[in-house]
Amino acid sequence: MSKVTVDAATCVGCGLCEQACPEVFQVQGDGIAHVKSQVCPEHNLKEIADQCPVTAIHVS
Ligand code: SF4
Repeated sequence: MSKVTVDAATCVGCGLCEQACPEVFQVQGDGIAHVKSQVCPEHNLKEIADQCPVTAIHVS
């Protein structure tokens, strides 16, 4: 199973990942996206990682 992480020091809280997959990503009160779940049956998490403007999402 893949492992999804968000680099808190890099994330700018733009919300794009949450819009793309709210099952996995949530921008919380600290203005940083957090990973709520490691899996999403609907979305390609690597594609979402590619769309992050600051490359803060890592899928391994
Ligand atoms: S897309 Fe990237 S910069 Fe934007 S909230 Fe998600 S992890 Fe942070």
